[in-house]
Amino acid sequence: MLGQGMGMGGSPQGFGGVDCCECPNCGTRSSHTRGVPCSTQECPNCGGSMMGAIDVVASRMLKLAKSLTAESGELLAENS
Ligand SMILES: [Zn+2]
Repeated sequence: MLGQGMGMGGSPQGFGGVDCCECPNCGTRSSHTRGVPCSTQECPNCGGSMMGAIDVVASRMLKLAKSLTAESGELLAENS
């Protein structure tokens, strides 16, 4: 079974903090203040809530992994 042992339950906060925050909507980055969660900051460009840059990367990887898993699942279903 694919998807096992990926450690999806871990929190990104476990990395020990991020150096910058990034807007998941428009990609604008801003410096991150230690102790202040990026999610409490507003994007200066579009006004959306910021995310830690690592969180943004993680969410992108998660989307990519899900799309790849879905595609390979369809291929397997076609071939079997
Ligand atoms: Zn933005």
